[in-house]
Amino acid sequence: MSGRLVIMGPQGSGKGTQAARLATRLGVPAISTGDIFRANVKGGTALGNQAKAIIDAGDLVPDEITNAMVRDRLGQPDAAEGFILDGYPRNAAQVEALDGVLADLGAELDAVVELSASRDELLARLAKRARIEGRADDTEEVISKRLAIYDEQTAPLTRGYADRGLLVQVDGLGAVDEVTDRLVSALSTRVA
Ligand code: ADP
Repeated sequence: MSGRLVIMGPQGSGKGTQAARLATRLGVPAISTGDIFRANVKGGTALGNQAKAIIDAGDLVPDEITNAMVRDRLGQPDAAEGFILDGYPRNAAQVEALDGVLADLGAELDAVVELSASRDELLARLAKRARIEGRADDTEEVISKRLAIYDEQTAPLTRGYADRGLLVQVDGLGAVDEVTDRLVSALSTRVA
């Protein structure tokens, strides 16, 4: 199987976990912009040094940096037959940039999945993750900023994707396996 997918959902919706599981099922790479940034921060690269303070504050890394990074990643051979983009696009300019990258590659998205969960559930999961992982951007203050940016800039993007006939909405509540099964069946007519 393969497929070119975007997975969207607020912080704590489980999109990173589900992106990885779905990627395994489809045999495509899961590409998480957050993970790429964190790897660069950890490795002390120029990109990481540029992005660290921004990420720790919960702000979005400037589009020109993020877009260039995604263009580079999607051009790599393992993404030729498909991919799952997790954490990108997050604003209107990134949607446009992604369309440009895909046009240049002669490829098109098969679906955009929106994973939903109630705000109470999100906050409970994020508090738990903060205790387990200790991410610098998982403090209460930074979490609330990241959720606000999601609400203002990212959630509205689903409208445009719905108009293009690409949006698939899936309930993110329940056991991890259950949600994966739900995703696979919701996508069954879109990925081959
Ligand atoms: P979350 O979805 O929980 O915020 P991520 O791991 O996806 O976590 O992202 C962590 C941080 O990396 C973001 O808060 C932001 O600073 C940066 N980042 C990730 N993806 C993008 C993006 N598409 N555009 C700008 N910044 C991004």
